[in-house]
Amino acid sequence: MQKGAIRVQTENIFPIIKKFLYSDHEIFIRELVSNAVDATQKLRTLASVGEFKGDLGNIDIEVKLDKEKKTITIADHGVGMTAEEVDKYINQVAFSGAEEFLKKYKGQESGTNIIGHFGLGFYSSFMISNQVEIFSKSWKEDAPAVRWECDGSPEYSLEETTKTERGTEIVMHVNEESEEFLDEGRIRSILTKFCKFLPVPVKFEGEQI
Ligand code: ADP
Ligand code: MG
Repeated sequence: MQKGAIRVQTENIFPIIKKFLYSDHEIFIRELVSNAVDATQKLRTLASVGEFKGDLGNIDIEVKLDKEKKTITIADHGVGMTAEEVDKYINQVAFSGAEEFLKKYKGQESGTNIIGHFGLGFYSSFMISNQVEIFSKSWKEDAPAVRWECDGSPEYSLEETTKTERGTEIVMHVNEESEEFLDEGRIRSILTKFCKFLPVPVKFEGEQI
């Protein structure tokens, strides 16, 4: 297991994210679904240039709600992340991986659709969570699956895990003030507001949005 401190400019970035960065807390869904779409489009690009040779399989993005565990999960079957990539793209806040990828695959068909905006996209999950877990398995064959976990302080942990499916699952443990999001109707209306007409199907409770 690797332990460390997330490398941010200020120790106090999490309270800032939680309270001020986005007054509109529901946009965490848009940010995380965007990341899932980006990861899936990256995989399509790798397949179209022949770097990814396997079967893409089911590439649907799935949003799941567990009221008992008080979790919201966003799962994709995109490129996934290796431990090194989690370290680079998640632990080093504000380093935009999309930028680097776009530079490398510029001009390729699906690469141009990547939402390459600069921001704290992933960290918007902490607006509604007191703990966030990432389970990820890279498309790269020999890369072991990894689990990253952070409770909103700059300390995270990163360890190997047993996920067998390619892709990423973001598990948000919803905090007390945000329990309004543990409601199917609420999630569905946010998804229909932000996540219609995306280039990858998004499913919620077995139904496509
Ligand atoms: P941005 O999307 O603007 O790069 P984010 O904070 O939303 O910023 O995400 C940071 C980086 O983390 C992404 O660029 C990507 O490399 C990685 N990442 C986040 N979510 C996923 C995911 N679901 N699958 C693969 N990589 C991801
Ligand atoms: Mg993003």
